Amino acid sequence: MELWGARLYGNPCRDCGFDWSLTPREAIGQVEDLPTRYTALVKGLRGDERHPELAWNVAAYVSHVTDNLRNWAERLAGARLSGASQVPGYDQDLLARARYYNDVPLAGALWSLQRAADAWVDSVSAALEENVILEHADRGVQQAEDVARNNAHDAAHHAWDIKRILVHADRPTRS
Ligand SMILES: [Zn+2]
Repeated sequence: MELWGARLYGNPCRDCGFDWSLTPREAIGQVEDLPTRYTALVKGLRGDERHPELAWNVAAYVSHVTDNLRNWAERLAGARLSGASQVPGYDQDLLARARYYNDVPLAGALWSLQRAADAWVDSVSAALEENVILEHADRGVQQAEDVARNNAHDAAHHAWDIKRILVHADRPTRS
C-alpha cells in the first residue's frame, strides 16, 4: 500500500507546514482561493525560473497543480455519476513530459488553474454531499474528504516549492 497524506508528509507537513486536521469545507475554501494566491505568488515572474534541485520550473508547478485538480475532480465525478469507484494511480512525471510543463506559458497555466479550481470545487462539493468513496489501486479507500485534503495539500506544498525557487532566484549570482 502506498503511503499518502499525513502518514507520508507528517502532520503538519514537515516541508510546507500544511495542517491536515482541517475540515473538508476548509480544504475546499483553500482550493477556491488557490488561483488568487498563485497569481499573487508568481506576479512579475517569467515562469521559467528554476531551482537546481527541482526538475520543474515555476510554470510547470502551476500546470501540475492544475492537472492534479482536474484528475481528481474527474474521478470523483465519474464515481458520483456512474458508480465507477475503482481508480488507478497516475504518473505525474509522464504527464509533465507529455504536456511539456516547463514550456507552458505562465499566463496560460494560470488561466487553466482558475478553470480547474472552479470545476474541482463543484465536483468535490457534490462528492462530499453524496459521500462518494473511491477505491484507489495503490492507496486503498479514498473518501471525498481525503481527496479534498490531499489536493489542498498538493497545492500548498507546490506553493512552497515555488517559494523555494524564488528564494534561490533572488540570490545574487557570482561570476
Ligand atoms: Zn507539504
